[in-house]
Amino acid sequence: MKNDIANLIHGYEKFREQYFETENSAFSELVRKGQRPKVLMIACSDSRVDPALVMNCEPGDLFVIRNVANLVPPYEDDLSYHGTSAALEFGICVLGIQHVILFGHTQCGGIQSLLDHSHEKCGPKSFLTKWMELAKVAHDSTLDHYKEKSLDEQIVLCGQFSLVNSLNNLKTFPWITERVEQGTLSLHAWNFDITNGVLQAYNEQEHAFNVIGGPS
Ligand SMILES: [Zn+2]
Repeated sequence: MKNDIANLIHGYEKFREQYFETENSAFSELVRKGQRPKVLMIACSDSRVDPALVMNCEPGDLFVIRNVANLVPPYEDDLSYHGTSAALEFGICVLGIQHVILFGHTQCGGIQSLLDHSHEKCGPKSFLTKWMELAKVAHDSTLDHYKEKSLDEQIVLCGQFSLVNSLNNLKTFPWITERVEQGTLSLHAWNFDITNGVLQAYNEQEHAFNVIGGPS
């Protein structure tokens, strides 16, 4: 446990040497001029799918929102505490983000919990149970269309249905649809298969996920 923290501090020193101890480093420019990312990614909290690492990005490249199962709630005008919606608003309305990418992944614990019901152990007042209600539509679609598939296949399919559902929820935010209609914002849904390294993107016209990266 002590090593876990020591490893982080060691890693920080390497980061500092690379980004702070060089004259006119990219980082010092980001501090001087402020951040201007063009891409916002909504990823899962899963420790294996850090978007900056997976996309080989540098500081300043990505504005990242992470939550359990990379879900987007629908627009709700209730003045409640909406962490994901607040970060979306900041990225899009303040920073002028041009691309929102939903970044799903296979073997997602949150999606799996919907199908094996493991999240129900958390009890009725669980934050996790409540949060995963956002993916209930995806869960129901999976069982409606693919009841005969194995649990592993259903988890992959449910993750894809959930991405499409979150894409639809993004379009319930007025300041998102406005920018999409003006052509200043694009929405994307990608799925990263962590078992084979294949990256897929959702094609809204074809209603299908097509391969955009991975082993050829
Ligand atoms: Zn996940």
